[in-house]
Amino acid sequence: MTDFSIFGSKLCDGSGIEELMHDLGNALSSGGDDIKMLGGGQPGSIPEMNAIWRRRMEEIMETPGEMEAMVGNYDPPKGNPKFIKALAQLFSEKLGWDVTEKNIAITAGGQTAFFFLFNALAGRTKDGRRKKILLPLVPEYIGYANQSVGDDFFKAVKPKIEKIGEHQFKYRVDFESLQIDDDIAAICVSRPTNPSGNVLTDAEMDKLSALASQHNIPLIIDNAYGAPFPNIFFADANPLWNENTILTMSLSKIGLPGTRTGIVVAPVRIAEAVASMSAIVGLANSSSGQYIMEPLIRSGEVLTLSNEVVKPFYLEKSDKAQQWVSEFFDDSLPYRIHLSEGALFLWIWFEDMPVSSKVLYERLKERGVLIVSGSYFFFGLGDTEWKHRDQCIRMTFTMEETVVKEGIRIIAEEVKKIYGK
Ligand code: PLP
Repeated sequence: MTDFSIFGSKLCDGSGIEELMHDLGNALSSGGDDIKMLGGGQPGSIPEMNAIWRRRMEEIMETPGEMEAMVGNYDPPKGNPKFIKALAQLFSEKLGWDVTEKNIAITAGGQTAFFFLFNALAGRTKDGRRKKILLPLVPEYIGYANQSVGDDFFKAVKPKIEKIGEHQFKYRVDFESLQIDDDIAAICVSRPTNPSGNVLTDAEMDKLSALASQHNIPLIIDNAYGAPFPNIFFADANPLWNENTILTMSLSKIGLPGTRTGIVVAPVRIAEAVASMSAIVGLANSSSGQYIMEPLIRSGEVLTLSNEVVKPFYLEKSDKAQQWVSEFFDDSLPYRIHLSEGALFLWIWFEDMPVSSKVLYERLKERGVLIVSGSYFFFGLGDTEWKHRDQCIRMTFTMEETVVKEGIRIIAEEVKKIYGK
């Protein structure tokens, strides 16, 4: 028998995110046509973007020394200097952020960035306190949930729910319930939010940023789907960065998840800390995404691609998925879709559903449809009683139309049965 350490017992025995990635990877590699994979965060396959990646790979192969440098060299732990320079220029020139190369560090995907940041800032401190990460609004990204190497360190706050019309709703930060005491190490939000597709408004972000500054703690913004790239951002809102912000980005959702490239834009001390952790954990990061993307960042082409290809692609997918929901879901069913303001998912709430979302997940799995039970996204609330936690599902709309449409038809059929309609 293997006896794991405390660290081991936290990380070695599975998690919601592992189950999700396992289902996703298996369905993609061997699922065949029968599985309707609406479960993971797999970005869609966009022909125009695939053509760009192919072009870049050819350019790398044809440029003397480029391929050899990409696969044959270790980058510095902080990331590839040319890539970082191009990013700093893009952020300062195009977005007006006061950012230099010193503010940027690369990681093995956004997921790794969060593991580093959360564990560096929260958890047991030298003076014996247990610092926490405040999630001002849950549901929040499942991938954060199991990342603590020590005690659980999330403290989450229930949102206000604004019902919109017959079949829509939006979460809003409940500022009255937001308490920031001495044990809060940082505030964290994903924007657009995975799973709900919510985009916190500019006013909400300004308020959170002001609160963070007032308490001298950072505001961590997970910008995996946000602007300026991949810009899967449908709401009328703006990206935010200031000296008190830790912004994470990723090359995954623009179409390069296999390269595992995350970007942290942060105060210099934090960017240095991230580089230090990269060196200890992995020496350096994968270079391929940085090589593929660098000229596109330097020329600004990444902005045109994000605005004119990636965003319209997902906006259309979201619109179609919503149309199929209203087509297949009986109007008398008490369902509500969260406003789809960004990211890759529809988040559907079945008010007063007679079974839990986990049961619904199992029933759908038996019918070949993989979704994610919403319950996984409500961590950090302790034992708070809240029926809503078990009444939501997340479905991804990035797959081929036939898969998404048939998946939604089957979800509607099962839900009707559950409500006895
Ligand atoms: N943050 C959010 C909100 C996500 O949805 C994801 C992936 O789905 C990540 C971070 C991590 O992505 P990656 O590690 O591929 O950059």
